Amino acid sequence: MPKKSLGQNFIFDSNVTDKIARAAGALTDKIVIEIGPGPGGLTRALLDTKASKVIAIERDSRAIEALKGLERAANGRLHIYEGDALETDLLALTEGKPFTIVANLPYNIATPLLMNWLKLIHAQGASIEKMVLMFQKEVAQRIVAPVNTKAYGRLSIMSQWLTQPHIAFDLAPTVFYPPPKVTSSVVVFSIKNQLYLNPDFATVEHVTALAFQQRRKMLRSSLKNYCNIMSNYDIPLSARAENLTVEEFLTLADNIK
Ligand code: SAH
Repeated sequence: MPKKSLGQNFIFDSNVTDKIARAAGALTDKIVIEIGPGPGGLTRALLDTKASKVIAIERDSRAIEALKGLERAANGRLHIYEGDALETDLLALTEGKPFTIVANLPYNIATPLLMNWLKLIHAQGASIEKMVLMFQKEVAQRIVAPVNTKAYGRLSIMSQWLTQPHIAFDLAPTVFYPPPKVTSSVVVFSIKNQLYLNPDFATVEHVTALAFQQRRKMLRSSLKNYCNIMSNYDIPLSARAENLTVEEFLTLADNIK
């Protein structure tokens, strides 16, 4: 019985779960972390890859019980942890080893989870090797949106700063049980090789939140305390938040700091 409060929309079709696992590329000898295994459809697909270990974090104790058999059958390759993914220290689970995250995320906490992991990429550099995450299509489109578009915003900037995100494919509501109201998209985040880590994470969050809170206003008004910095770096005060590139936001944040 799926619980709406836990964002439970399950996938049982192994063609679909295999396709999600394949979107991660070769997983040979990799550690994979899955958030919210639920009844274990995607977990089985991940165990069918050559990953050395699958670590799954689940909040629903009913799912933990249901996955015990699978854990035994996996001969030490599957580790299930009961807990809240928002509070879990992923580095502690992998003992500091690099890992890939693959998950059909609970939509009610998908954005805060993504923000946590982006923060971890910023702090730790190489720990997260790749992320393959399912979102509502509308959220996925915001993540990959280019500058000068309506969907471009805080999520685009934070994601594109540290990763190269692309939408691998969409999934219709009918592949889920129960079907959600919206179409879903699987987003692959490749972590950038050269990370520009100068601005601190909180400052980039701050300046993008401020600029996009009033996204129709000119920057001279939404970022009025930072007009001097913008002028120094040739950022036009008459532009709106959606006209500033990721690099311009980073320059701004770096100098505000
Ligand atoms: N991966 C499964 C289930 C996806 S539904 C499938 O594809 O079929 C989302 C899952 O995330 C559910 O199992 C839900 O119980 C779990 N979940 C919800 N909130 C969570 C949290 N805070 N921490 C860990 N898991 C959570």
